[in-house]
Amino acid sequence: MNNRDKTILIVDDTIVNLDILSELLYEYDVVEATNGEEALSIVNEDKIDLILLDIMMPNMDGFEVCQKLKENPQTKDIPIIFITAKIDEASIVKAYDIGGADYVTKPFLPKELLARVKKELQIQDMISELKFLASTDPMTKLYNRRYFSTISEHTLDLVKREKKDLSIIMLDIDKFKKINDTHGHHIGDKVIMHLANKIIICKRKSDISARFGGEEFVILLPNTNINGAKIVAETLRKSVENAHLVYDINNNTLNYTVSLGVSQINLSKNQNIQDGLEQADEALYLAKKTGRNKTISTH
Ligand SMILES: [Mg+2]
Repeated sequence: MNNRDKTILIVDDTIVNLDILSELLYEYDVVEATNGEEALSIVNEDKIDLILLDIMMPNMDGFEVCQKLKENPQTKDIPIIFITAKIDEASIVKAYDIGGADYVTKPFLPKELLARVKKELQIQDMISELKFLASTDPMTKLYNRRYFSTISEHTLDLVKREKKDLSIIMLDIDKFKKINDTHGHHIGDKVIMHLANKIIICKRKSDISARFGGEEFVILLPNTNINGAKIVAETLRKSVENAHLVYDINNNTLNYTVSLGVSQINLSKNQNIQDGLEQADEALYLAKKTGRNKTISTH
């Protein structure tokens, strides 16, 4: 990743310090703030990758800025390097206690500061990569089941608060074992990836899709009632039915179908995600039992 893609916010009430630091960090995209309030408003509006934070500032000092950033889920993960003239042990300890990533005293060695900035940004990149790996199914790049359970709980809280609807689609590939037995597992994998792609195309932007396991997928549809969810399910089903998947270099194609179960979580009865999943699963079972390649809803 290019350094220009990284935005560093420098917060210092002394203009000359801002000038020195901006010049030193010329390879990065730099944003400046001369006080704590300004820093907090910048962080809430722009994507900031790292903050260099002075401690001694009028009104709101650097410790307070740091505490406010750490209290906010949106900003708590931004690494903060304190850069200060305060060299007493208590300040250093406090800086780390409240979540500071590093502590540099003025006057600083320019190349050392650059090295520390670089190291913090590398750690952030590693954390992002790990988060991606932990939440994603490696084959399809859709969310995995574990991440789905976290994000679906958040979504449920949100729709409850806003008194909106929440629906679920569960689907799986019809006769998937036969596809594997006939064509081999590598073609089975191609079918799974093909379906994942169809799901991405057919779902709306706000819908959340995940690979639930094997050939089974789930879509969570916020602000959508069962009728809306049925439309998405049918669009997906038809799109799969009409597709001809090219599976080798000789342009051989295969067709496959999916069955889908649709449910709406009954929030007035205080139903949870698990209830919604079970209902969608029952509907899916019924779709399989009554001939496959169809969408069945709970009501
Ligand atoms: Mg100062």
